[in-house]
Amino acid sequence: MFGRAPKKSDNTKYYEILGVSKNASQDDLKKAYKKAAIKNHPDKGGDSEKFKELAQAYEVLGDPEKRQLYDDYGEDAVNDPGMGGGGGGDPFAAFFRGGGFPGGGHGQRQRQRRGEDVVHTLKVSLEELYSGISKKLSLSRTVLCSKCKGKGSKSGATIKCSGCKGSGKKVTVRQIGPGMVHQMEHPCNDCNGIGESVNAKDRCPSCKGKKVVSEKKVLEVHVEKGMHNGQKIKFSGQADEAPDTNTGDIVIVLQQKDHAMFKTKGTDDLFIEHTLSLAEALCGFQFIITHLDGRQLLIKSQPGEIIKPDQYKAIDDEGMPIYQRPFMNGKLYIHFTVNFPNSLTSEQCKAFEAVLPPRIAVQMTDMKLDKCEETTLHDVNNIEEEMKRKQAQAQKEAYDDDDDNMPDGAQRVQCAQQ
Ligand SMILES: [Zn+2]
Ligand SMILES: [Zn+2]
Repeated sequence: MFGRAPKKSDNTKYYEILGVSKNASQDDLKKAYKKAAIKNHPDKGGDSEKFKELAQAYEVLGDPEKRQLYDDYGEDAVNDPGMGGGGGGDPFAAFFRGGGFPGGGHGQRQRQRRGEDVVHTLKVSLEELYSGISKKLSLSRTVLCSKCKGKGSKSGATIKCSGCKGSGKKVTVRQIGPGMVHQMEHPCNDCNGIGESVNAKDRCPSCKGKKVVSEKKVLEVHVEKGMHNGQKIKFSGQADEAPDTNTGDIVIVLQQKDHAMFKTKGTDDLFIEHTLSLAEALCGFQFIITHLDGRQLLIKSQPGEIIKPDQYKAIDDEGMPIYQRPFMNGKLYIHFTVNFPNSLTSEQCKAFEAVLPPRIAVQMTDMKLDKCEETTLHDVNNIEEEMKRKQAQAQKEAYDDDDDNMPDGAQRVQCAQQ
């Protein structure tokens, strides 16, 4: 691996590689690196070892924080795995991971590990999202033991964990076949990957040496009006505490329960379904709905207005409140279905014909009718027919795709054979 081999305790090597003085500016460093990298690029016949050396030197010096560390303590300090240096990995890959030159402050890694976020879902009704609500959520989490301040011992002294001999890791070996084993490394469960444990006599009685204790916590979750299904509410740094760890966040994910009448379709608008009789569709209607906040809305047609089957109508400002935009709401859409009668008597037909606009007159002479073939209309199951059509279409597309993959000549030959 690179970086470890030529062990030099000085702190000038990287500057020499890049051919700059120790007090070169970041800009000068960048320019020097670019120039040398282009000159030594393996794709252009350059020396790949030299190129890697350059990348490694610039990875450190290009980052002001790492450069300071290097200036103060030399190469070993920046190659400490905890600092994200070479550390046995490929500095070349690490360097180009970001897809460019590391800028100032980039690539710096925290020495403390970060605890995991804890995600909870919170079910909320549409009414609660409409009006907003505060909900108490009780959960248990681990916190650093207050008696021993997270040390696990009375004296503060620790000894090497016997389970992992202080490495914090354990290796499980599993036989997966004759002569084949699978090795897996995982954090030591005796010490939670810390590598230390506490002498039995010295153990903190409160946490029994575990450094953490379980605690009940009640979170007050403010669900603001207009929040959406799937929206996250974060409680920063309130997840499980662990020694030497930056505590992660508790993340509450809102999960909207289905509503019997209103749908949101992921927008600030609301959608409802309403079925009209044919008389209502033609001659007018009115009905009342109870809104999500309990208000009664009277919904009615304009005089003389006709609603057609499958038609949508909307009411402004009666949709969901818009998040963090007080007094603003989406629309309320109503999708109309019209219930047609299944049949009419001849008297009813006459009555309708008397008031409806006249039929489009077609001269049905005997001569014309003689030339026609008589047909019969039958009922159709729309859903079934649609499925059949889609299947046929999918088959056709799969066939067309095959054709696309074939060279032109092959396609023609195949067509000619058919
Ligand atoms: Zn251990
Ligand atoms: Zn304790």
